[in-house]
Formats: sequence, C-alpha cells, structure tokens
Amino acid sequence: MTTHIESEEHKALRSAVAALGRRFGRDYLVQTVAAGRPPTELWSEAGKLGYLGVSLPEEYGGGGGGITELSLVLEELGAAGSPLLMLVVSPAICGTVIARFGTEDQKRQWLPGIADGTRLMAFGITEPDAGSNSHRITTTARRDGADWLLTGRKVFISGVDIADAVLIVGRTEDARTGRLKPCLFIVPTDAEGFHRRPIDMELSAAEKQFELVLDDVRLPADALVGDEDAGLLQLFAGLNPERIMTAAFAIGMGRYALARAVEYARDRNVWKTPIGAHQAIAHPLAQAHIDLELARLMTRKAAHLYDAGDDTGAGEAANMAKYAAGEACVKAVDQAVHTLGGNGLTREFGLASLITAARVARIAPVSREMILNYVSHQTLGLPKSY
Ligand SMILES: Cc1cc2nc3c(=O)[nH]c(=O)nc-3n(C[C@H](O)[C@H](O)[C@H](O)COP(=O)(O)OP(=O)(O)OC[C@H]3O[C@@H](n4cnc5c(N)ncnc54)[C@H](O)[C@@H]3O)c2cc1C
Repeated sequence: MTTHIESEEHKALRSAVAALGRRFGRDYLVQTVAAGRPPTELWSEAGKLGYLGVSLPEEYGGGGGGITELSLVLEELGAAGSPLLMLVVSPAICGTVIARFGTEDQKRQWLPGIADGTRLMAFGITEPDAGSNSHRITTTARRDGADWLLTGRKVFISGVDIADAVLIVGRTEDARTGRLKPCLFIVPTDAEGFHRRPIDMELSAAEKQFELVLDDVRLPADALVGDEDAGLLQLFAGLNPERIMTAAFAIGMGRYALARAVEYARDRNVWKTPIGAHQAIAHPLAQAHIDLELARLMTRKAAHLYDAGDDTGAGEAANMAKYAAGEACVKAVDQAVHTLGGNGLTREFGLASLITAARVARIAPVSREMILNYVSHQTLGLPKSY
C-alpha cells in the first residue's frame, strides 16, 4: 500500500510494528484463541518496544505521540494477522482520558503501567437496557461520606478478565437540579460487589466479553476521573480515539484478508490462467483495496484532527472513518473468503472466522446506523426520527 503521504517517522513506525506482527503472526493468534488465553506475549513485547504507550505523555512513560501513531500500531498488527483489541480500550480510551483529565496521582498510578503494558484498563459504557442510547444508562454513583457507591449493570465489556480496573461510565445526581450527569470512575476488578460473567460469543478472538454487575461497589473519592460537571466532554475525549482505533482495527483486518486473497488468486489455476486474471475475481479485490485506502485516508484525517486538539472536527471525521472502515472491512473479508472458493471456509486458510470478526467493526463501538444518524442530523441538518 502507498504510504507517501506519511512522514518518515510514521513509515518507520509502520515497518517496525509490521516486523513485530510478522514475528508473531496469524499462527500465534490462532494458537492463543484455541488455548482460550489472552495474547500476553505479544502484548508485553509490544509494551517493551514502546508501541502500547506511543500516544501517552513522555513524562508518564509514554512515547509522546498521539492517536495517529497508536492507530498505525494497531493497523499494522492487524495487517499481520495479530491485532490487539485491547489497544482500542486500555491506552486509547482509558490512557487518553486519564492523561487529559486525571489528577496527578491518577496519572502517576496508571499511565506508566498502561504505557508499558504491565497494567490494563477495560472500558464499560454499554448497558443491557440502553445499548446505542447511552443517554439512557442507569449505572449510578451516590455519595456515602467521602466515598462513592456505584450500582448498575454493563454488557459486552471486553477484557475484564485481564484488566486491573474498568473505567466505568456512570452517572451522579446534580445536587441542584436532581438530573443525572455522566461521570467516569476507575473501578478495580477485585473490588467488593464487582461481579463479572463471560458472554458466550461466536467470535474467535483472544479477548473475551463480559457482563458486569456492580452491586454497591464502594469507591474512594479519587476513583472519579476529572470533573464531575464536565462528564460528557471528558467522555467524548475517549470515545473519539475509540472510533479511530476501531477504524484502524478494521483496516488492518481488511488488509490481512485481502492480502491472503490476492496471494491465492495469483497462484490458483483451474483453467488456462490464474483465477486472479478473471475480472470477476480481480475487480472486487481492486474495489476492496480502494475502499480500504479511502477508509485509511479518513482515519488519518480523524486522527490528525484529534491530535491537533479539534475535538468537534475529530468527532465527525472519527464517525465517518469508523463507518467507512467497518464497511470496507466487511466487504474485503467477504470477497477474500469468496476468492478462495471452498478453501475460504477451511480452518487451514483461516478466513471464514473473520466473517464474524469483521462484523464487530460494523456494530461496535457505535453501529453503522447510529453513525448514519449522526451524519444525517449533525452534518446534513436533517430532522431526527427518535
Ligand atoms: C465484540 C464486542 C466488543 C465490545 N466491547 C465493548 C467494551 O469493551 N465496552 C463497552 O462498553 N461496550 C462494548 N461493546 C458493546 C458495543 O459497543 C454495543 O454492542 C454497540 O454499542 C451496540 O449496542 P447494542 O448491542 O445494545 O445494540 P442496540 O443499541 O440494541 O442496536 C441494535 C440494532 O438497532 C439499530 N438501532 C438502534 N437504534 C437505532 C436508531 N435510532 N436508528 C437506527 N437504527 C438503530 C443498531 O444500529 C443495531 O443495528 C462490544 C460489542 C462487541 C460485539
């Protein structure tokens, strides 16, 4: 793929991460999934090499870069067949929110470990009765002396089993108006009253999803991240990186699948020429490549705006990038499977499981339809149906 619009540093980062990705590769990930364990070796190696913390401030052990650099890391690992989903969550959401809004103590306590991979933080916003409508979340924190008591339920929270804490989106009651305001809390996974149950997903992924029950979990005052009155702003500071990183995840997966299909189409010969010479096979692969490149360009734009401090501009671009990348990934994977014929469905070639995996990028962290809603209302000014 062409990378000429990227700086020399970014190209160097891409090729260094790609080399790490190749060293582990698809086989490593397939083995960890089969063993039902997390990709610990790749995670720690990426941490040691500084890739997990590339976007975090240098004074807390990070690389001093931005979401631009972190998204390159995830895309290249994905293109090598071994993406690290928790990059979307631990450094990109939690690390960013703490770096931007945390107290000095919270930064010192969490950022160095998130950066080198020795500590991991999951992120919980989705609730069973709220889903895409995050205005409806009911996980509520109430004051008890200097402490907080947090109660609620969350679903589909990734990586809770390997996390030290979960950054939970809850609400507190405004003392004046009685209205509930969104707030972020760092909740240790070993806290009393914190219960988790794995959800049986039809996904071959190394990271698991959990349902959480928070039953009067007692938290110290300093579990609250940032300002109680600036909840939404802080939340969006974490959600934009999440969308940009999901786009990078999808592009990496799409590139991986496309590369396997192209290799196959070059070699497989059932008539006079390789199947890749038939335009019915070649053109959809070319289209998939174009769609991935376009999504990549939008992802770069979103990351650039975010790193430049333009949260509003980044919001629109991050949504569009996530949409484009999710769609490009789903199409690339579908076409890759088709290109391999029967082999597209064998375990040996390992592409069929990506059909389910690719759908994640269309559903999470915000679904295709919610992005179309956002663009209809925010960008085009059309009225709302809901
Ligand atoms: C693998 C995986 C990992 C995840 N990890 C995390 C995590 O770590 N932390 C976390 O908090 N969450 C996580 N999630 C949850 C994810 O963010 C949600 O699944 C997603 O936000 C959609 O919510 P929902 O599943 O409740 O779907 P719903 O909101 O019930 O939506 C169902 C369908 O209805 C459509 N729909 C809903 N409202 C509208 C509307 N107004 N207009 C048009 N269509 C609409 C949606 O587009 C969707 O197709 C994860 C999910 C998956 C699958």
